[in-house]
Amino acid sequence: MSEEGEPKLVNPEFTKEVIKRGADTITLCFQCATCTGGCPSGRITAFRTRKLMRRVQLGFKEDVLPSDELWLCTTCMTCDERCPRGVKITDIIMTLRNMAVEEGHMAEAHKRTAGMLIKTGHAIPMGDKFRELRKTLKLDEVPPTVLCDPKLYEDVVKIMKATEFDKLIGERIDG
Ligand code: SF4
Ligand code: SF4
Repeated sequence: MSEEGEPKLVNPEFTKEVIKRGADTITLCFQCATCTGGCPSGRITAFRTRKLMRRVQLGFKEDVLPSDELWLCTTCMTCDERCPRGVKITDIIMTLRNMAVEEGHMAEAHKRTAGMLIKTGHAIPMGDKFRELRKTLKLDEVPPTVLCDPKLYEDVVKIMKATEFDKLIGERIDG
């Protein structure tokens, strides 16, 4: 990312590409910062939603796509609910992440989560703690997902292979 105060390379094609991918509400943002004020991630990190929207509007591709802060959003959608202009902020962030991954940028924590999806079919591991918790709630220990049917996991793997998901995160699916 550029140093604070350093001139940034404006790339209008970047903004156009974001809009082309369906994130056209970026043009509606008038920089009120309501999103930043309610962002739970921004409360504990340097992530500022309004600034991210502005950088996209201005075409600061090199600031946005490789940045760590792009991955600090938890996709809670609080900002979407509060934005007075109806900007689809979370969708915009997801679009930016897709673009970032296509260019080889992904936060390490997200890579690890995606790696779990490849290994188990679940992004969050189903450990003993969750099994016990499910039992106390009188649920089956194992949820009705890929965990209880190997065929479903095979189908998930097929999709990941077909979409080359493994390559995107630098993993390899055997077979
Ligand atoms: S709340 Fe909406 S209009 Fe205000 S800065 Fe955030 S995205 Fe822009
Ligand atoms: S969706 Fe992301 S940017 Fe919006 S409030 Fe939640 S954490 Fe912040």
